[in-house]
Amino acid sequence: MRVSAVFLRCLSVLALSFAALQATAAAAAPEKRPPNVVVIFTDDQGYQDVGCFGAKGIRTPNLDRMAAEGMRFTDFYAAQAVCSASRAALLTGCYPNRIGILGALFPKSKIGIHSNEMTIPMLLKSRGYSTAMFGKWHLGDSPEFLPTRHGFDEYYGLPYSNDMRPKHPNTNFNFPPLPVIEADRVIATNPDQSRLTGTYTDRAIRFIEAHRDTPFFLYVAHNMPHVPLYASERFRGRSQRGLYGDVIEEIDDSVGRILQTLRQRGLDQSTLVIFTSDNGPWLVYGDHGGSAGPLREGKGTSFDGGMREPCIAWWPGKIPAGTVCREVAGTIDVLPTIARITGTPLPADRVIDGRDLSPLLFGTRGARSPHDAFFFYWDRELQGVRSGPWKLHFPHSYPKPVVFGKEGLPGRATTQKIGPALYHLDSDPGETRDVAANHPAVVRRLEALAEACRDDLGDSRTGRAGRRVREPGRLENPTGPLPAQASTPTLTP
Ligand code: MG
Repeated sequence: MRVSAVFLRCLSVLALSFAALQATAAAAAPEKRPPNVVVIFTDDQGYQDVGCFGAKGIRTPNLDRMAAEGMRFTDFYAAQAVCSASRAALLTGCYPNRIGILGALFPKSKIGIHSNEMTIPMLLKSRGYSTAMFGKWHLGDSPEFLPTRHGFDEYYGLPYSNDMRPKHPNTNFNFPPLPVIEADRVIATNPDQSRLTGTYTDRAIRFIEAHRDTPFFLYVAHNMPHVPLYASERFRGRSQRGLYGDVIEEIDDSVGRILQTLRQRGLDQSTLVIFTSDNGPWLVYGDHGGSAGPLREGKGTSFDGGMREPCIAWWPGKIPAGTVCREVAGTIDVLPTIARITGTPLPADRVIDGRDLSPLLFGTRGARSPHDAFFFYWDRELQGVRSGPWKLHFPHSYPKPVVFGKEGLPGRATTQKIGPALYHLDSDPGETRDVAANHPAVVRRLEALAEACRDDLGDSRTGRAGRRVREPGRLENPTGPLPAQASTPTLTP
């Protein structure tokens, strides 16, 4: 009898303790739940192709509102001015040269992102996130390399660029039918591209709705505005900037729908959204390419027009509204920033080039760029280095359009040379006035930063191999004949 009474008393104490624990957990739950993260990544969108970045003839009310409610970055860089390299950097927080993904991978690529690399979704899976990607992958199209093998629970999209299809204007390429992939299966080929932006958006919204009660990471990587351009019927003919403007206005509508879903579901205060692009405008396509505005050149070059991107970060209540950040930052910083705000440790067994941007994002007084130097590579060649407002170009060649294309056909570019040349980007964002002769000490300082980088990441111009570079993933047993893969894309087919 006495034993039973003690037992019952113990049970009631346990029940009370359990109830108290539950109450504590419930009260703490909103604090403990890490924020959702949405990254919206466009393809070949120019620095000036957003209203709040000075677009002409293109209306982007949703992106403008996003900036008014968040932070606009004026000096935000992609890691290289070409698709695969840029995407590899975004997802791993590393310069593309660090992890061996360069250029634009072609269909049936024998390489892809290495399974040992830590991607953003892999990092967040360790924190219990649901993860999804809708759109362009371009980090290897074999099943081994697809998004579902690199941390994404769900994937739907094109495995590479939308021009890698049988109708490519350069008939030498002879591309196979363009696949649409769901998870790791081809479910269709040669899709109606006018529906891509809308379909990715619909899927993104469905994913948010389905996962609104648990933390999620969503990566929307639009194929647009990479050529060939397609807008859905509702957007065709709407802008004053032709089909290119229509495409951007549809992307803007997509951003608006995603942000509105977050607001309606009460997730706006618990979701970081980042909008940016993989590289600058493809200028040789003329009216079907974007505009870098005041910046020099475009895609395929290491000038700022090729690598500086429009970037907006949004997290109401956390990121101060209507702010502008003029510090140097870039896509390599997205992974370390997400790690910090979600309380997820970064892997300690490897170099991660990016840095945490949260002091900048949260408007911490006196916050500065975490980068003493930012490096500009094209493929394996170190072409430039930026430190503060100074940018030093080393001698290199670059494509310069001399005939601009029309209506989806490319024009013609010539090869030009530059460097060494020093520019002061604050007073000369167009990289037009070489002031190296007036600032020999600055040139020496930037040259020393570059020399350390060559030792670390390599440089084909000076014949240097990087000491701390890693291998990409490779297909061990490729089956059947595979087409040649270009590490450097042909920019002027
Ligand atoms: Mg691109």
